[in-house]
Amino acid sequence: MLRRTGVILIIAILAVFLGLHFGLAPDGHDPRTVGTTAIGGVAFLLMTMSIMLSTRIQAAETLFGGLDRMYQVHKVSGVTAGVLVLAHFFGVPKELPVGTDPEVMALFPSAPLGMFALVLLVVSLAITLNRKIPYHQWRLPHKAMGLVYFLIIGHFMTAPSVFFERFNPSGLFLIGAACLGVLSYLYAMFGMNKKTGHNFTIEAINHLDRATEIVLSPVAGRFDFKPGQFAFVEVQAKGWNEPHPFTISSPPSESNLHFTIKVLGDWTRKIREELTVGGEVIVRGPYGRFDATAAGNRQVWLAGGIGITPFLSKLRAMKADDPREVVLVYGVREIGEALFHAELQSLSKKLPNFKLVTLQSNKGEFARVDIMKTRLGQPIASYDYFLCGPRPMVDGIMKDLRKAGVARHKLHSEAFEFR
Ligand SMILES: Cc1cc2nc3c(=O)[nH]c(=O)nc-3n(C[C@H](O)[C@H](O)[C@H](O)COP(=O)(O)OP(=O)(O)OC[C@H]3O[C@@H](n4cnc5c(N)ncnc54)[C@H](O)[C@@H]3O)c2cc1C
Repeated sequence: MLRRTGVILIIAILAVFLGLHFGLAPDGHDPRTVGTTAIGGVAFLLMTMSIMLSTRIQAAETLFGGLDRMYQVHKVSGVTAGVLVLAHFFGVPKELPVGTDPEVMALFPSAPLGMFALVLLVVSLAITLNRKIPYHQWRLPHKAMGLVYFLIIGHFMTAPSVFFERFNPSGLFLIGAACLGVLSYLYAMFGMNKKTGHNFTIEAINHLDRATEIVLSPVAGRFDFKPGQFAFVEVQAKGWNEPHPFTISSPPSESNLHFTIKVLGDWTRKIREELTVGGEVIVRGPYGRFDATAAGNRQVWLAGGIGITPFLSKLRAMKADDPREVVLVYGVREIGEALFHAELQSLSKKLPNFKLVTLQSNKGEFARVDIMKTRLGQPIASYDYFLCGPRPMVDGIMKDLRKAGVARHKLHSEAFEFR
């Protein structure tokens, strides 16, 4: 669940900037210039925050409720910034402010930098938002967004109407943001991956009916994580390219890491068909805040398909004297799709506080609120809900649970996508 703290922080930063910009606007700036440069400034701050959110810094995970939420805010900030950049472009006066020397201003490349940034931004956003482009082709153009950011810094630092605002509070605010944004970008590009990697060897590859389980043994030391967290997996061999995020399905007590991977595209198919035992893997993380330990004692864990993985780790870590009463509702198309079903059944016999409800859609059993009402022992609003599965399923059930009177703070979900 997206935590409000991070969003409030973003709104507060924008409010401070706008307060400075409108409250201490330079004399002689007409209202249109002040208004449109404010829009440009907000766009720039949102871009800065979008870049900062891509650094995967752990403290920010606490503010926003997990890395998946940070990426969602990263996307919304970036898209909003793009729209505001367009509004700034069409709104800002094209003639030079009164008193500006055209010959001096001709030396400053603000306008061409702005135009170039705008064109690049529109192209990059069109690529970024196109979900049909496979991730490995999408990644590089998305990273080129950094170039847009540098061009925009050049644009506002040399813009005639805000030129002397470098010495104004709102201008200084933007320069401070630019420093943070540039440092964040450099860290995301060159520093982040050096700090977060742990080396592993592929110990086993288990071909399950509908997924592949890979077992990784650490080269040195333990990899600490909490049940429900995920990590980026990077195979160290030619042709494997980018890291991919997967939830750890083993419990933290085990030193080996297990990932259970469903074929969804090229990379995951390669995992099933080409990965070999003994290869090297770098695991980066752990990330995520899909933590059920701090919630109430009555919990429903709702998994759709491959969304079972965070719950596998949680259940494998669960003790018989755990004070929580957990009902796992596992929605699958047919029973053959239910991963580790025999193990889950045996856990439900072993753990007195755990009940398994498997719903098969081919038998007309859907993970719907009306069906859950008949299967859960207690009133529906008395449980905390943890949901993981296909986005439409999770969103639909969350909406219905809200309608059925479940409080917002009792709903927790994990999105298996960042884009
Ligand atoms: C937090 C999280 C946890 C996940 N846990 C699991 C799990 O336990 N088991 C499992 O089977 N799947 C999991 N996934 C999904 C898994 O990451 C994708 O299915 C996989 O990366 C698809 O790669 P592909 O090239 O085979 O498919 P593609 O067709 O290239 O990608 C399918 C979709 O996966 C996403 N994706 C692809 N590559 C990446 C990447 N490098 N980084 C981020 N997103 C990417 C994109 O949204 C893309 O649209 C998880 C995803 C996230 C975000």
